[in-house]
Amino acid sequence: MKAVCWQGIHEVGVEEVPDPHLINPRDAIIKVTSTAICGSDLHLYDGYIPGMYRGDILGHEFMGEVVEVGEGVGNLAVGDRVVVPFPIACGNCFFCSRELYSLCENSNPNAHLAEKLWGHSPAGLFGYSHMLGGYAGGQAQYVRVPFADIGPLKVPAALSDEQVLFLSDILPTGYMAAENCNIQAGDTVAVWGCGPVGQFAIKSALLMGAERVIAIDRFPERLRMAQHSGAITLDYESLDVQEALKDLTAGRGPDACIDAVGMEAHMPGIHGAYDRVKTTLRLETDRPGVLRQAIMACRNGGTLSVPGVYGGVIDKVPFGAIVNRAITVRSGQTHCHRYMRPLLERIEKGEIEATSIITHRISLDDVPGAYQMFRDKQDQCVKVVVQPWQ
Ligand code: NAD
Ligand code: ZN
Ligand code: ZN
Repeated sequence: MKAVCWQGIHEVGVEEVPDPHLINPRDAIIKVTSTAICGSDLHLYDGYIPGMYRGDILGHEFMGEVVEVGEGVGNLAVGDRVVVPFPIACGNCFFCSRELYSLCENSNPNAHLAEKLWGHSPAGLFGYSHMLGGYAGGQAQYVRVPFADIGPLKVPAALSDEQVLFLSDILPTGYMAAENCNIQAGDTVAVWGCGPVGQFAIKSALLMGAERVIAIDRFPERLRMAQHSGAITLDYESLDVQEALKDLTAGRGPDACIDAVGMEAHMPGIHGAYDRVKTTLRLETDRPGVLRQAIMACRNGGTLSVPGVYGGVIDKVPFGAIVNRAITVRSGQTHCHRYMRPLLERIEKGEIEATSIITHRISLDDVPGAYQMFRDKQDQCVKVVVQPWQ
């Protein structure tokens, strides 16, 4: 089969690789009908996540048709159409039974690698480094799905792939980011980053009753999309974000701040230069410019929600502000399994529209170029959907 493989920093290629096979009784093999490139994939592309080997198959947002099921998968049959959550979860462990699926303690066979970096290991993820399990990803024609009796969600024939594909990651991710803000009537929520995750965080915050959402980015097409969803927008290159947020909130700051940017924030000026130098010298692993800004902006007693991915150790995070101003911080890889069914119902009822963020539809062969386009935000790219059989 054909698959998109990581070949090194800023190098991905389409390779001919062996088809996957059932290994465990709870596996299923999915023929991938649609997959997508995520902002998280860019962290692999840019070399920010350790534990990638040449030839690793990328991709964690995918859906398709069940073509083989193991004998332990009672709820799926060949021919079913399913969307698959990006964390791999057993459904039975301490964490899964608490619906903390991205922390499943049975799905990362390389837990010892993650423990070295983070103290404890989270769940394994599709296509996301050997540190997180070394699972082949879904930017491919076929993929093996472990614990297939727990993760994949059957989707009604009436809904198109594009309507449901993002249940695999970015829709639940934006939703959980907003849910983590504990939004109360009258709240103002500020969202850094108007990529796919930011867009769904904005929509979700408004659905949850936020009075105002303030969206921050620099790309006009992304800001326009946010505005279309009902957000007030700020172009961080043309104003002082802290001052603008104070002006909009009577000097107090937003009730909740969402960092939907993560470890590769673009920061003009001296602050950005500091992180660029320190990451180059490997004295810091990530560029946390947005995290710092969001902490400083948040109102006293407010909430900071961080769906943006960070990988390692960062500098000059104003932790004193968190303690002295009683800020609650919430984060995590998304517990997708928890949100997929309720969000599918909202899609069916027309309460959530997921397809309008798609700007590019391509074949597998065009994926290498699309990584660069998406990374550099060329051609007004917001979200790339890939059809592996085109
Ligand atoms: P993306 O690259 O499309 O979007 C990031 C956006 O941040 C871009 O629009 C960029 O212009 C903007 N940005 C950069 N610097 C900024 C700054 N200083 N101020 C404001 N905006 C700034 O990526 P995405 O797909 O939307 O993903 C966003 C983040 O969410 C990534 O870190 C990704 O890894 C993470 N993510 C996390 C989960 C999870 O489970 N927690 C799931 C999916 C994605
Ligand atoms: Zn993702
Ligand atoms: Zn588990």
